[in-house]
Amino acid sequence: METFTPAEAPAAPLRDRDTISDRFKWNLTHIFPDSDAWKRAYDELDTKISAYAALQGTLAQGADRLLAAYKISDAIGQLSYKVWYYVALKYDEDQRDNEMNAKRQQVQILFAKFAQVSAWFSPELLNIPLPTVQEWMAKNPELAVYRFAIEDLYRQQEHVLDEKGEHLLSLASRFSSAPYDAYAALSTADVKHPTLRLSNGTEVTLTYGQYRAILATNRHQRDRAAAFVEYHKLFEASVNTYASLYNGVLQRDWFHAQSRGYRTTLDAALHGNNIPTAVVENLIETTKAGTEPLRRYHRLRKRVLGLDTYHAYDTTIPLVEIEEKYPYEDVLEWLPASVAPLGPDYQRQLREALNSGWIDVYENPGKRSGAYSAPVYGVHPYMLLNHNDTLDAVFTLAHEAGHSMHTLLSHAHQPFVYSDYTIFIAEVPSTLSEALFLEYMLEQAKSERERIVLLQHAIDGIVGTFYTQVMFADYELQAHRLVEDGQPVTAERLSEIYVNLFKTYHGDSIEHDGQSRVTWARIPHFYSTPYYVYQYATCFASSAQLMKQLTGASGPAKAAAIDRYLTLLKSGGSDHPMTLLQRAGVDLSRPEPVRAVVEQLDTLVTRLEHEINSQVSR
Ligand SMILES: [Zn+2]
Repeated sequence: METFTPAEAPAAPLRDRDTISDRFKWNLTHIFPDSDAWKRAYDELDTKISAYAALQGTLAQGADRLLAAYKISDAIGQLSYKVWYYVALKYDEDQRDNEMNAKRQQVQILFAKFAQVSAWFSPELLNIPLPTVQEWMAKNPELAVYRFAIEDLYRQQEHVLDEKGEHLLSLASRFSSAPYDAYAALSTADVKHPTLRLSNGTEVTLTYGQYRAILATNRHQRDRAAAFVEYHKLFEASVNTYASLYNGVLQRDWFHAQSRGYRTTLDAALHGNNIPTAVVENLIETTKAGTEPLRRYHRLRKRVLGLDTYHAYDTTIPLVEIEEKYPYEDVLEWLPASVAPLGPDYQRQLREALNSGWIDVYENPGKRSGAYSAPVYGVHPYMLLNHNDTLDAVFTLAHEAGHSMHTLLSHAHQPFVYSDYTIFIAEVPSTLSEALFLEYMLEQAKSERERIVLLQHAIDGIVGTFYTQVMFADYELQAHRLVEDGQPVTAERLSEIYVNLFKTYHGDSIEHDGQSRVTWARIPHFYSTPYYVYQYATCFASSAQLMKQLTGASGPAKAAAIDRYLTLLKSGGSDHPMTLLQRAGVDLSRPEPVRAVVEQLDTLVTRLEHEINSQVSR
């Protein structure tokens, strides 16, 4: 157990892209045969954009004019996907490619032009009374396709100000990113990273990546503790500056909420997707009542790691190490097998997705890092990976495959206007795909050690994507309520909120170190996108409840659950996300979905305890 892994092991030399077999590269000729074809499509897009601009001032003339505007906007949208992704994906193959970078920017300039020449559309439509447009739709079935999009535009109108008010807000928006920009400069550009001497004598520069690596790989607790203390000192040293920047975020949000006539900042944040505030309040309350399995997991970790005291910096080190490799070719068989509970059609489509030149598998010099699924409308989704045969890499593929299947079904079953799904639903299929894959891998696992690694992977996923994000959402809500109630916002007050939350979630299962107080100062999402992270948690809860319905039932109940789930994937953005989820059997305003996550964690921790005990008893 005392094997020390250096925090940043030297990477193996990368293979040149030319030496990688075509079977492991995506085939972009599915979008355009060559760059000449791309250029022709680009010019066509430009022409269509000018044609759209010419429609200004015509909408009030009747249903036909409105339908014409929607149709040309659809045509522009469809072509945009292909024109953008052909160059964007090619650029990601090797980001040193200047020519491709220039083409990407050329497309971005064209998109900016479209945004500019189409700005008249919403105000002009909203000038026509809704009952008139509804009458048009009743008589014109082709226009009626756009009913949800049209009516939602009128719903959003509720909080749009008059021209003078909107002008004033648009002027104010120019400094609304200042707190985040200053946070980024303070925490990244201007930061002086400390150096740290590890117990084996090596000296490291403590960047965020290095800090994370030490916590996740270094088996000496005193090294992890030292990294934790040094890293948090960076934030302690400027804690009052961080507090005043965060106060800037809170005041800005409250200013916008009040000027648009929302009751609270949370109301303002949720209105776009028509999410009731009860969803966030219920998420927080039900999670707080379900922290016991989380604490049990940390107590188990403390015992297995053999630590006298257990701290925040001990929460990511693996319980056991295995040498197991997961070659890509094997995963191609496992993944379709894992989705058997979703039926043979889904399995067949996934097989096609994995074997048809849709995936760029291996790393090569200059390739974009990480992984994503790109929805190329009119072609098919593409997936970028940097597969390195690790367990994380195979779960990444399972995750991205979930996104791609969602895209595939949604594009196939919806008219273009609703083919895209919202963030609020996006992470449901990806996390469900991972959960099915975990079940399959646990069944196939050859040893207790491998099962322990799999279980820890799944549990850490729930801790990171669910519990931590709910705690963050809770923090954001409490902080915003300070300004809504006219209370002062100080570093002391923000730290107090954070400490209380940390204790509420973890009880005495994790020692509380003084430095943890300032953790709030470090979290980029708090400054960049307030009220965003709760969506990871609601997606996770939805997926946990769906998983329970899919795998728990049998006979007709199971068939109905599969059908409801596939219907969700086929629905795209054809209605508000809460409505779509309710049809799939998930009501996020009720405690059940969150309880399904708590149960899932409880079951996984019990399984982990069992594997560990039987390993010890041998
Ligand atoms: Zn995702």
